Amino acid sequence: MQVPLLDLKAQYQTIKHEIIPAVTEVMESQYFILGPKVKAFEERVADYCRTKYAVGVSSGTDALLIALMALDLQPGDEVITTAYSFFATAGSIARLQAKPVFVDIDPVTFNINPNQIEDKVTKKTRAVIAVHLYGQTADMDPILSIAQKHGLSVIEDAAQAIGSEYIKHRRAGSMGDMGCFSFFPSKNLGGFGDGGMVTTDDAGLYEKLTYLRNHGAHPKYYHKMIGGNFRLDALQAAVLDIKLNHLDDWTAARQENATYYTQGIVESGLDKWVTTPSIEKGYRHIFNQYIIRAQQRDDLITFLKQHQIGCEVYYPVTFNNQECFRYLGYKKGDFPQAEKAAAETLALPIYPELTVEQKNYVVETIAAFYG
Ligand SMILES: *Cc1c(COP(=O)(O)O)cnc(C)c1O
Repeated sequence: MQVPLLDLKAQYQTIKHEIIPAVTEVMESQYFILGPKVKAFEERVADYCRTKYAVGVSSGTDALLIALMALDLQPGDEVITTAYSFFATAGSIARLQAKPVFVDIDPVTFNINPNQIEDKVTKKTRAVIAVHLYGQTADMDPILSIAQKHGLSVIEDAAQAIGSEYIKHRRAGSMGDMGCFSFFPSKNLGGFGDGGMVTTDDAGLYEKLTYLRNHGAHPKYYHKMIGGNFRLDALQAAVLDIKLNHLDDWTAARQENATYYTQGIVESGLDKWVTTPSIEKGYRHIFNQYIIRAQQRDDLITFLKQHQIGCEVYYPVTFNNQECFRYLGYKKGDFPQAEKAAAETLALPIYPELTVEQKNYVVETIAAFYG
């Protein structure tokens, strides 16, 4: 049996009949950049994330970049973030000549450890980027209160977390000053190419984001600020608008798959070797990834791949150990929990269309490895 890490074709087959007319409509209109499709989709995403505004942009990476630009981040400013995330989280800070300042993770949730943030605050600190890794939000209350105390902005990197909730049903992207989302095809809401969104409740930031994504122009050809081409395509909005109708069902299926794996792993006694993901009390985890911590991780990966089970390490190298960040002066071992996670974890297939047979096969194959 084959179990790919992700099977986008399986999902496409279920919605093809809805997608083709929507895409055809855009093609007939020949209206490709921003426009009514994008506007309508932005309003739906704002609604879904329970924010006042949403601004469609060209990718999750550009969402982070434009959010930082909207804060007028200056060269030499410092932005505190996790040592363990997808590259764009830290890359977007460095691209503005600001300084990424890393913090270790909580070993249970893999999210930034809020207890280690305040020590990193200096006179130059401007913002915190909290990443909601794998689909579960960071512990936001302590982060928000540290930010308030020191006058820092908070950006949520919610690229993996659309619809995820923190305690008291607060949605990812609605807690900080801005939330950044990605519609990369492998995200829970994935387009047919690149796309992203920035959410905010702040009318001033909203306005600025809409200018910045279009070279800072307002009105057209008059530039008060320097932005870029960070626009979302109407074709992507048309696809994503259809997919958004299915998102809660897909999330439910991901959650069921996660429960199934965790039960299977525990019932087979595999929890001696494998730590299953935690769901924090009162949170809504949307399982963009199902991450286990596994003994003999690299041998397990080889074994799973030999048995045609897709798996991946997210992420094998922490930010302090990235060559491009050598100039920041960190060294190996500075973030022991993040580095341990990078060495011990792997993602199993969790996509909504997995069959019971496939899930059983994954658990049985892990059992065969340790047995
Ligand atoms: C995917 C991702 C991004 C970047 O999104 P793109 O749309 O691929 O540019 C940023 N941060 C995190 C945590 C991500 O998972």
